[in-house]
Amino acid sequence: MYIIANGMREFENVQASLKNPAMDGRFPAQGQHMDADVLVIGGGPGGSTIATLLAQRGRRVVLLERDRHPRFHIGESLLPANMPIFEKIGALEKLRAIGRLKLGADFPRDDGSYYTFKFDRALGETPPYSFHVLREEIDAMLFAHAREHGVDAREGAKVEGVEFGDDGVTARIADNGAARTLRARYLVDASGRDAFLGKQLKLVERSAEHQSAALYAHYRDVDYNTGDPGGNIISVYRFAHGWAWFIPLPDGTTSIGCVCKPEYLKQRKGADNADFLAQTLAMVPHAAERMTRAQRISGVRVTGNYSYACRQMCGPRWIMIGDAWAFLDPIFSSGVFLTMHSALHAAEVVDGSLREPQREPQRERALQKRFERRMRDGYARFAWFIYRFNSPVMKSLFANPRNVWRVEEGVVSMLAGDVFDDRRVLRRLTAFKFIYAIGSLLDFRRWRADLRERRRQNRTQFSGGNTPPDAA
Ligand SMILES: Cc1cc2nc3c(=O)[nH]c(=O)nc-3n(C[C@H](O)[C@H](O)[C@H](O)COP(=O)(O)OP(=O)(O)OC[C@H]3O[C@@H](n4cnc5c(N)ncnc54)[C@H](O)[C@@H]3O)c2cc1C
Repeated sequence: MYIIANGMREFENVQASLKNPAMDGRFPAQGQHMDADVLVIGGGPGGSTIATLLAQRGRRVVLLERDRHPRFHIGESLLPANMPIFEKIGALEKLRAIGRLKLGADFPRDDGSYYTFKFDRALGETPPYSFHVLREEIDAMLFAHAREHGVDAREGAKVEGVEFGDDGVTARIADNGAARTLRARYLVDASGRDAFLGKQLKLVERSAEHQSAALYAHYRDVDYNTGDPGGNIISVYRFAHGWAWFIPLPDGTTSIGCVCKPEYLKQRKGADNADFLAQTLAMVPHAAERMTRAQRISGVRVTGNYSYACRQMCGPRWIMIGDAWAFLDPIFSSGVFLTMHSALHAAEVVDGSLREPQREPQRERALQKRFERRMRDGYARFAWFIYRFNSPVMKSLFANPRNVWRVEEGVVSMLAGDVFDDRRVLRRLTAFKFIYAIGSLLDFRRWRADLRERRRQNRTQFSGGNTPPDAA
């Protein structure tokens, strides 16, 4: 698997390239000439979560966000496995107050009929619900929550560069226009798709197994699915050039986006974003039926240069979380959960490393290795499904799920985000792969055709083209 294969073998190299012999592998004692114990770059859900967790443990944390909340962000559908993390940081009731209940996901068949994977059928211990959210609201809430826990959370503060020295890290910051430096004992990179540290250390690699880009907007007066009168389900439609999401939002509007293959995006040739999204939605089976009265109420945004991972996610006195390390196509709405899950476990690494300066760097290395392995395993479990999502075999398995040996319940658990610990779930996911392999053998020609098509798409470079990446 791409993410795993490229991971551990790079660990030693970059570890060595960042090692400062003068430091003798030890952290400075707490407070020694330092502005903070921990500097967190990026005030999205990952950064705010780890900042809160570390502050809850008594660490002095500075959290720097280059924008100002509330600001738009994509990623509006959360997973049940994320709920215990909101609870752990004391923000679940705040989320409940602003979120719209999400009870499951459906993946409509070509004829428009569909089967809803309801979270209450999950095999593991995940809650039977989650929320759809306006990201500007929850990101602002989590940032303010961090501040309430004593984090020095600053907006309009962009980290421009970092240097690792004898006793920690020094960051150059453009703080609301003024140049400053800030020194901390540990650095957490939660800069999202900017991949701040990954770019500085030249660790970012585009995925060789999956490429696509997304166009999206908000609409009003979109009909819910017929079997979902309350608007509590995310619908994911496949179409010839990719897939599309319909997410009912808390304010009654609907987020709609199309994630497209590179070859299709290259055909765009100068069409403006709004026309191209409308033209693409016209190809999504049954989307028109839900959009007869729909009106677009936002600009059309684009995210290009899609899937990537950094070859390494941590080193001496630094760690990456969430999108700062890797980005997976959001078919299963996994991003916010993965960044908050990595924040939860990275907090253990950072706190554990700082707790015993005399026993460094062995302790830090051991903690980081465990963290890195955990995250790579979890991402790889989602990635396996994502890469094959549009294949004929996967299509038929999702269209007609059968609960033989509770495999369908295991798939619901995966859709709920339960991909890390529960052995019952992991066994069912392995069984699903076995069923997929048999299905592929039985339908070998179509399986091979799909594999060739995926490989051709992945070779197609789409770097945004004439579509401005991440335009707001
Ligand atoms: C098209 C699309 C659809 C998606 N749909 C979903 C979905 O339905 N559900 C889901 O869970 N996820 C979804 N995601 C993924 C989700 O958006 C991300 O995984 C999630 O936002 C990652 O959180 P983060 O905290 O790691 O990064 P971000 O949320 O991106 O936060 C990073 C922050 O760092 C700040 N920053 C960057 N550089 C600097 C710097 N140098 N100095 C200071 N601050 C800086 C940025 O301004 C930003 O606020 C989707 C993503 C895309 C592209």
